[in-house]
Amino acid sequence: MKILFAFALLLVGSCATLRHSEKVKNLKESIAYENEADVIKYLNTIKSDELQIHVEEIASPKYNGRKTGEEGHNRVCDFIRTYYKDHGIKAPESHPNYYQIVPNNVLPEELNDSQNVIAYIEGSEYPEEYVYISAHSDHEGIIDGNIYPGADDNGSGTAAVFEIAQAFKKAKMDGNGPKRSVVFLHVTAEEVGLHGSRYYTEHPIFPIENTISTLNIDMIGRVDKQHLDNEDYIYVIGADRKSTELHFIIQAANSNFVGLNLDYKYNDPNDTNRYYYRSDHYNFAVKGIPVVFFFNGEHEDYTKPTDTADKINYKLLEKRTKLIFSTAWYLANSPDRLSTGVL
Ligand SMILES: [Zn+2]
Repeated sequence: MKILFAFALLLVGSCATLRHSEKVKNLKESIAYENEADVIKYLNTIKSDELQIHVEEIASPKYNGRKTGEEGHNRVCDFIRTYYKDHGIKAPESHPNYYQIVPNNVLPEELNDSQNVIAYIEGSEYPEEYVYISAHSDHEGIIDGNIYPGADDNGSGTAAVFEIAQAFKKAKMDGNGPKRSVVFLHVTAEEVGLHGSRYYTEHPIFPIENTISTLNIDMIGRVDKQHLDNEDYIYVIGADRKSTELHFIIQAANSNFVGLNLDYKYNDPNDTNRYYYRSDHYNFAVKGIPVVFFFNGEHEDYTKPTDTADKINYKLLEKRTKLIFSTAWYLANSPDRLSTGVL
């Protein structure tokens, strides 16, 4: 009896496994880009020299390290919204000056009011569904008389959002605009506790239940110690927690268009660094939204006054930005809305 019972269990177990691998296979095969030539056309508008211009501006000492609520950070937020105005990328109707004020009563005590900066391109077929590209705009400010330029953290992410927005805008001008709306979200107060993104998800400008996914970028311009011999990598964190499909879409985007090594080391739920909890995507995940965090890992200039624009690897920043754009393209244009199941 015992042996029979165990055998039956084994059978049930292996059937379940088979069904799972079959589902994974079907899901992977269902991910197909429709007009690859279009994706490539707009991918090619993402350029290392433009990324460099953006990073050099954002990390410039004139912004005094972009401390939340301080004058230097306010000026960089103004620079960000001017970028969108100049590119004809509009503000949300409810926030026509691109700013969502984050009041000081939700920030650590000593800080002034600050702001998230929000721009978006309206979808042509499903305008009520939203794909977010996010990056924090603040940094450490001035400590002991030293300006913390934060070129990688997070000039690199901010520059990537700019280039992705420009690529979608060019597509739209050609009549190839995204079917879903794409939101470009520059959150404040990340460095002091993810407050800007928390405030946004508590006071969303677009209905939170219509959020397809949030692709968060925080530090993608450098190479960490583990990859000095093979720098064509990016850490991909958290994509499979709420949507197995998102995890595979990133893989498809990468193999079709970019060819980076996707490193899942920090996606391990037991990883002691706990990066999944440490940048702005996490506040979207708390609301049940499929998220992913793109990250280069820590390096010797992380949160130091030496995180300067001349140390960014701009060719690599371009490749990583292309991965994020091609992922966003799929999410914004796929016939079916991203599924939220986890296999
Ligand atoms: Zn950061």
